Amino acid sequence: MEKINRPPLSDIPTLKKLEDNWEQWGQELKEYQDSKGKKERAGQQFSWREGIAKDLRPALENLTDGHCSFCDGFPIGETVEPPIEHYHPKGDFPLQAYQWENLFYCCTDCNSEANRHKVFEFTLKPDEADYEFKSYFYFDLESGELLVYEHLERDKPEEYKRANSFLKRYGINSPKRKEIRKGLFNDVKNYFQNPYNPTDSRERKLWKYRYIYDFAERLHAAS
Ligand SMILES: [Zn+2]
Repeated sequence: MEKINRPPLSDIPTLKKLEDNWEQWGQELKEYQDSKGKKERAGQQFSWREGIAKDLRPALENLTDGHCSFCDGFPIGETVEPPIEHYHPKGDFPLQAYQWENLFYCCTDCNSEANRHKVFEFTLKPDEADYEFKSYFYFDLESGELLVYEHLERDKPEEYKRANSFLKRYGINSPKRKEIRKGLFNDVKNYFQNPYNPTDSRERKLWKYRYIYDFAERLHAAS
């Protein structure tokens, strides 16, 4: 959801093994999948090879300050290890299953939402060079929803479609999340209104949904 500045894999020493092997591992996964029927494949467990997930997870977490790459939830992974999400699903795109640019730090809710959508659609990718949250999305306080700027439908129809597919794919506007956002807005608003006796003095990156923090800050500055 927030822009991700992803360094090249070669800049991350702990992921040398991934850099050296990701193509080969993807090739092997593809060969394995090709040798099985689709039905047989569906139940198969994906494996991260050589324990790479243990190094991969902190490297991905680092890119988002521990927030979910898709809903911006935080903190995640307190009770279970957060999933590593494949942007291009590994079942349909085995060659990208271990590709650094295809992997995202993700909460369990977004991961299970994405798994429900069997047909892959191109969605916005938060690590794209020209991606910015504020170019596409805005928060609607009344409904608690995140919405795509309407003018994009006319000005950039393809981008408009990808932004809406993003919201749908990760269940960004589920009833539960809409309620959480409204409650969170009140907390942040309270925080800005009571600088001398803040009920909460966390810095921006420690708030769940940083775009709500930004929204409340703008409203406060304008009031
Ligand atoms: Zn999420």
